Amino acid sequence: MHLGACIFNAQKNPIAHLIVKHIANAAALRLALTGAAAPQACRCALGACTAWESLAEYRWEAAQMSAVGSLRDPTVEEPTLEECHPQGTRYDSPNAPIAPGFFPYNQCEVWHCTRCERHLLRYTEFGGYNVDPRVRVLDADKIID
Ligand SMILES: [Zn+2]
Repeated sequence: MHLGACIFNAQKNPIAHLIVKHIANAAALRLALTGAAAPQACRCALGACTAWESLAEYRWEAAQMSAVGSLRDPTVEEPTLEECHPQGTRYDSPNAPIAPGFFPYNQCEVWHCTRCERHLLRYTEFGGYNVDPRVRVLDADKIID
């Protein structure tokens, strides 16, 4: 019975049983994207996600997502909540830069959608009583150091 419960939990959390590679900086993030197939227009339930979008768990198509790595530094207990917007963008701007050392990118996992070949960033906003998964497409052109 106990073993069964463990397997069930591992399946509920698709990354719990994987060793997720730490992507330490912008260069490593760019490197993780090199050689990837050209992204196609998304045909999945995710939608475009050009800017950060609140995406309920059931819309996340876990079966077609493969984990690429994590931008979270395992040695840092509380990653900074500071954002990086040198061009005056805001958190939810479609053209906001992807700055791996800053919020919320420093909390993100990087995923690859095997259906549309896009890479996606995902983290969880914790607010009050609910958790709020957020997703944004990882556009290599928006990565800054
Ligand atoms: Zn997709």
